[in-house]
Amino acid sequence: MDGVVSQFKDLWKELKISNDAFIRTTDQKHVDAVRDFIERMVKAGDVYKGEYEGWYCTPDETFFTELQLKGGKCPQCGREVRKLKEESYFFRLSRYRESLLSMYKENPSFLSPQSRSKEIINRVESGLNDVSISRTSVKWAIPFPNDEKHTVYVWVDALINYLSAIGWPDGKAADFWPADVHVIGKEINWFHSVIWPAMLLSIGMKAPRKVFAHGWWTVEGKKMSKSVGNAVDPREVIGKYGLDAFRYFLFREMPFGEDGDFSEKALVARINGELVDDLGNLVYRTLSLAEKFGEKIEGMPELDKELDLEGIKKKMGDLDISGALEGIWSYIRQSNKYINENEVWKLKGAEMGNALYNLLESIRIISILISPFMPDAADEINRQIGAKGGGIKDCSFGRFSGKVSKGKYLFQKIK
Ligand SMILES: [Zn+2]
Repeated sequence: MDGVVSQFKDLWKELKISNDAFIRTTDQKHVDAVRDFIERMVKAGDVYKGEYEGWYCTPDETFFTELQLKGGKCPQCGREVRKLKEESYFFRLSRYRESLLSMYKENPSFLSPQSRSKEIINRVESGLNDVSISRTSVKWAIPFPNDEKHTVYVWVDALINYLSAIGWPDGKAADFWPADVHVIGKEINWFHSVIWPAMLLSIGMKAPRKVFAHGWWTVEGKKMSKSVGNAVDPREVIGKYGLDAFRYFLFREMPFGEDGDFSEKALVARINGELVDDLGNLVYRTLSLAEKFGEKIEGMPELDKELDLEGIKKKMGDLDISGALEGIWSYIRQSNKYINENEVWKLKGAEMGNALYNLLESIRIISILISPFMPDAADEINRQIGAKGGGIKDCSFGRFSGKVSKGKYLFQKIK
């Protein structure tokens, strides 16, 4: 397990992914938080002892109902399942049908994206069964409070990490709760959108403000799997095409809340089109003209009105990341259009100064907007235009005062 953890941590470093905290559910603080949480559910009268029977997939550590099985096998991994019957503690999920339904109604963005909300609502409306929250057959899990014969079912334990990671039950955890959003894979939506908020309601806490269930990656239209051997190794892709291009592709290619498809052909098309022709070209053309110019670069904002900053911010807030990038690229294309329509290369004196002012301001803002997706390209643009970067508050015209020094092309065309 330690080996797996360090592999992930190393990869995040290579991908330039940062995180504030990393939690393993074996941490003692987490174990204490889980036991505390369950004791509160018991006190609320929401836990009782019964008998659980189901089809169990050992590698997935998951029980399935008869209906969930696919051809008698595990619906997740396709392996053999076995019928298990055991004494178990149950959580009275059935009690929370009304509360959940009214929460979904009061906060329509809780179930995100919208396209997945209907399925959850329908299932909750049709009635909820109580859920098993302990096992006697899994010895390594967290001991159940006041009954050491049982351990806490791993899924229950895992959900509580959202609280233990912020120090709950310490009072300071209140600074971070309720969470703004849980970002999860679509296959675990039920646990996060139904069971977890009900558990929180049971102990008198608020549900997170939003649960966003994203889609899966397929490869050339097929499900990624070990047996097919079509898994994509991020290190290989980065080695061949560069980190920024890979990051850009992943964010751009997955439509809002839907599945995304990875193919080298699509990656190359985006590199050659959006990165080289649109962004790279804008920067290179502008910097070439600016270096030759030699007079003062100043002017009045014109190109600012093509930027839909509010639209981009809204999309980011909704986690429509691909849509936000689309908005940024629309501005990049408008800036290229500005060069062509004004035939900027023919301008002289104050007119050239004004055009360059507009283009350099536009590029400065673009570098801020793309920096979360392509940190290296943003740094390189800033170096070339003599800017410092910044945040969303710096995305308005009027700050350009840099000294330009043209550099290499940002991206290379792939043949
Ligand atoms: Zn399985």
